[in-house]
Amino acid sequence: MSDQRYDALIIGAGIMGCSSAYELATRGLKVAVLEKGAIGSGSTGKSSAIIRQHYSNEVTARMALYSLRVFQNFHEVVGGDAGFRRTGFLVLTPEKDLQGLRANVALQRSVGIQTELIDAAELRHRWPYLETMDLVAAAYEEASGYADPNLTVQSYASAAKQRGATIHLDTQVSGVRFTGGSVQGVETTRGGFRAPVVVNCAGPWGARVARMAGVQAPIDSCRVQVAFFRRPPAYQGDHPVVADFNHGVYWRPETGGLTLVGLIDPSEQEAMVDPDNYREAVDFEFVADAGERLVRRFPAIEQGEGAGGFAALYAITPDWHPLIDEVPEGSGFYLCTGFSGHGFKLAPAVGRMVADMVLGQSTEGLHSHLFRLSRFSENDPVRGRYEYSIAG
Ligand SMILES: Cc1cc2nc3c(=O)[nH]c(=O)nc-3n(C[C@H](O)[C@H](O)[C@H](O)COP(=O)(O)OP(=O)(O)OC[C@H]3O[C@@H](n4cnc5c(N)ncnc54)[C@H](O)[C@@H]3O)c2cc1C
Repeated sequence: MSDQRYDALIIGAGIMGCSSAYELATRGLKVAVLEKGAIGSGSTGKSSAIIRQHYSNEVTARMALYSLRVFQNFHEVVGGDAGFRRTGFLVLTPEKDLQGLRANVALQRSVGIQTELIDAAELRHRWPYLETMDLVAAAYEEASGYADPNLTVQSYASAAKQRGATIHLDTQVSGVRFTGGSVQGVETTRGGFRAPVVVNCAGPWGARVARMAGVQAPIDSCRVQVAFFRRPPAYQGDHPVVADFNHGVYWRPETGGLTLVGLIDPSEQEAMVDPDNYREAVDFEFVADAGERLVRRFPAIEQGEGAGGFAALYAITPDWHPLIDEVPEGSGFYLCTGFSGHGFKLAPAVGRMVADMVLGQSTEGLHSHLFRLSRFSENDPVRGRYEYSIAG
């Protein structure tokens, strides 16, 4: 059987692969997405899908803002539905980080993000159910919230298909072909595919796929967990999304009167696993720990009940920022992986950056240079101006 020919091949149909396929197909390229499982079957389908703009460096803040605008107008811009719900987003930090919080809010405002600093009295006034004794101030983004990750990735896949892309499911890439340093295509479980451009959007499998091209990418696949709690009847209305750095926890509303809880904890990097073989059930200890952290901020939850959880994968790099780069330069092999637990909200901007990189174009404010692979050997990792933890 002769190879199928395309302008660009994308490995992985998660949110990065599908948004990249959509952007490349929109610009007229003949694109194929090769996915070993189903659309969204990697990290994307299990994402908490929180959409916030609170970042501590200008490039990611701009990416988050660009992407928020797409989520807000998803039907008009991409087509279909992303299930975006605007609930507001609160950032709570210890008093020692107050100066950093102020500086980050100023940075975000300087790029056009709508965010405000509010003091503890205002916090108590707006959300009287929150315990605020340990707080002096918080940052609040009224326009942020969360989306439905499965709906979003399916909508991107459909939009890419409408623009001529094909998506091959159950098609595992097993090798990347080169001639004279230039990419020629890939080998898969369903035969060969030819193209001068191959984009690695393989998420937690990203290091494996990079090795197929002879590239060492520092990406670990790490197991992380999420727990659900049913709120008591008096608290069934939506609450904002909260990133609580004092207690190392994030939480957001979930349908059915539930609150979804995950940790903001750099030690998650230590739970390295084989992405094809890890325990997908939640640990009892995790549910107990997440529940305790939540109750310290939202005491009324104690009257609610646990409602299970699950484990999933982050693709983590040493500085908790992604790799968006062509390696080696001029080869036609691109990395778009390692999103370190915060990529979902950035995906609309990332797809655009990938298309710009492939076509030698540029979009104002969206520059991928920061995310080059060589930053690690150059000892120049991505750093925010003020970082409280691993929130970017
Ligand atoms: C529990 C959890 C909560 C999260 N919460 C948030 C959040 O609140 N906000 C946020 O912005 N981000 C969040 N994230 C992170 C976000 O979900 C990820 O950054 C994003 O989904 C990564 O998308 P991706 O396309 O890079 O990877 P994936 O979705 O993992 O897609 C990679 C795809 O590649 C395929 N693949 C791999 N190898 C091959 C191969 N050899 N051949 C063919 N196909 C292959 C896989 O099957 C997979 O479908 C969270 C992640 C998790 C796990």
